[in-house]
Amino acid sequence: MHIKKQRLLTPGPTPLFPPALHAMMASDIHHRTQDFVKIQGQALASLKEVMGTSNDVLILVSSGSGAMEASASNFFSQGDKVIVCTAGKFGERWVEIAKAFSLNAVVLQSEYGDVVNPARVEAALKENPDAKGVFVQASETSTGAMHDIQAMAAAVKRTDALLIVDAITGLGTMPLDIDGWGIDICIGGSQKAFMIPPGLAFLSISSKAWERNASATLPRFYFDLKKEKKMVDKGEGSSWTPNTSLIIALNAALDYIKQLGMPKLIENAQLLAKGTREAARALGLELFAKEHPGSSVTAIKAPAGMDSGVIVKGFRTNFGAVIANGQGSMKGQIFRMAHLGYFDFADMFAVIAALELILHANGHKVEFGSGVAAVQRVYAEAALPQPVKA
Ligand SMILES: *Cc1c(COP(=O)(O)O)cnc(C)c1O
Repeated sequence: MHIKKQRLLTPGPTPLFPPALHAMMASDIHHRTQDFVKIQGQALASLKEVMGTSNDVLILVSSGSGAMEASASNFFSQGDKVIVCTAGKFGERWVEIAKAFSLNAVVLQSEYGDVVNPARVEAALKENPDAKGVFVQASETSTGAMHDIQAMAAAVKRTDALLIVDAITGLGTMPLDIDGWGIDICIGGSQKAFMIPPGLAFLSISSKAWERNASATLPRFYFDLKKEKKMVDKGEGSSWTPNTSLIIALNAALDYIKQLGMPKLIENAQLLAKGTREAARALGLELFAKEHPGSSVTAIKAPAGMDSGVIVKGFRTNFGAVIANGQGSMKGQIFRMAHLGYFDFADMFAVIAALELILHANGHKVEFGSGVAAVQRVYAEAALPQPVKA
């Protein structure tokens, strides 16, 4: 037997930032004390800073989907017409949420691996001038594709509709100018690029959205954002018992992200994604999101005749590493490797070397090192000092 380190290579949960984990041990603190209220205030201020927004930001005790639900229940009324973009499993979650809250959804669907073109959103807004909202994923984690949020925002800005962006894997992997572009609700989750365990969701809320909140009548209780904002503004902490341990961890991770700089965190993911795409090409593999690949995760098609589950299993049994299979009908067809958050080039060299071994063991012709070399070239170009010319 060889040592196999446990490695999480999935697009959530992601590898944990060790100082954040250590910080969690200091969570024997009461949430109604000024000590904790101060910690929560720091987390909110840091979130605003790294998200680059002057809008309100609130933290919810839930996984990311809780903030998705809250963005429907707090800003809409029964029967409101909304435009829902879907190009994967998370887009389908928007459709289900709209249905659960009796919204009248105009669904703009694209094939898995593709994206919803912003021109379609613009046309749908023209055809449906009564639309009250547009729901979309920044990064569709199930396929690896990335939406053009800037272009969509430009179209939504001219209307009364709110733009609600599930940026749960978009934050920290792609530029998102919340205030400049006009993203009314921007949603994030703790277990993605924020390098801590699952259990916190957060969202930014524009003044346009708060205005809508005043007349929105859908039922809400636990995720009542107005009530939560009041508690925060009064300096009383949170409506309910917050997840103290995770908020303490979040502060440590956000300190690191601020030190690094959000643009660098994004560039890190972009370079690892680029390296992965070039490695895939070098190994004769096809990308799943061909036209608009994002940087949170790279989805790669298994070689013809090979179930992608074999590759997932190979990582697990040979290397103790967890990569993601496809979801739904994509299961068995693709495998997904993450780059968001606490990943570095050394991880990537190892992951691609392991992939080469697994492909080889399953009959796919591989020249050992060819994928790794592709990642090395990306690193050398981006990060190595250029040799001084004689
Ligand atoms: C992870 C993720 C979510 C949230 O899923 P939870 O399990 O509720 O955290 C939502 N949207 C996208 C795009 C995601 O990647």
